[in-house]
Amino acid sequence: MTEWDRVRLDDPTDGVARITLTRADRANAQDYQMLSELNEAFDEAARNTEAKVIVLAAEGNHFSAGHDLNDRTDINDLATIGTQCHFDADGAEGYMAREAEMYVGLCWRWRNIPKPTIAQVQGKVIAGGLMLVWPMDMVVCSEDATFSDPVVAFGVNGHEYFTHPFEVGARLAKDMLFTGRAITAEEALRSGMVSRVVPRDELESETMKLATHIARRPMFGLTLAKQSVNNALDAMGMYTAIQSAFGLHHVGHNHNMRLYDSLVDPAGIQVIRDEA
Ligand code: ZN
Repeated sequence: MTEWDRVRLDDPTDGVARITLTRADRANAQDYQMLSELNEAFDEAARNTEAKVIVLAAEGNHFSAGHDLNDRTDINDLATIGTQCHFDADGAEGYMAREAEMYVGLCWRWRNIPKPTIAQVQGKVIAGGLMLVWPMDMVVCSEDATFSDPVVAFGVNGHEYFTHPFEVGARLAKDMLFTGRAITAEEALRSGMVSRVVPRDELESETMKLATHIARRPMFGLTLAKQSVNNALDAMGMYTAIQSAFGLHHVGHNHNMRLYDSLVDPAGIQVIRDEA
């Protein structure tokens, strides 16, 4: 077992590595430190030759409330993984580089880990929370799970890893984004966004059952299957769509900066609270 401040990695059963978010007192809100620890945990799990499947779980009532708006982590203190740079540059440059590194860069990296990954999800998944669920290959959630990306209220298009149309289909993606509403586990299942919905008290056991079942197959077969599906998504334009939306996301941030001297529309938080 390896333990970080906000993340834990263990081996619950043969062939399975499990990463757990351990910031339950903050509903697993993600600061840069948590994302950096998560990346180290994914690397360790990926390099573990005993582990064929990686499960991403979370302690507490909620999988993740999204990005920590009070994040005080200095990105320059972290071991960055991409080739992004000039994080402290003025204007759009520095902030765009930080989001490219910590959000889109990490999500895309985890999405391409060459072994199956399963998100084990309970409670609320809000905005940045989806950015941990969607890069995973399969999603097992409990009946109480809900999924939302309300950040259009902040004057941007959605969260940074913009795969919404691929995850839930174009119609439901627009519904989620325009209204900011949370979709239920049942809607998520119907739209193909989650793989299984189970009772809350069976979430862990059902996820482990699925992971163990998958782990009986040869590693390289699983890797090739994953890569083939991902290649199909890429042929449909997934990576280009993410990059295109990321550019528009930063038009939103910079629009807000010009109007409000803030990356987000300050009125958005009240809109979201009123509808919660
Ligand atoms: Zn952003």
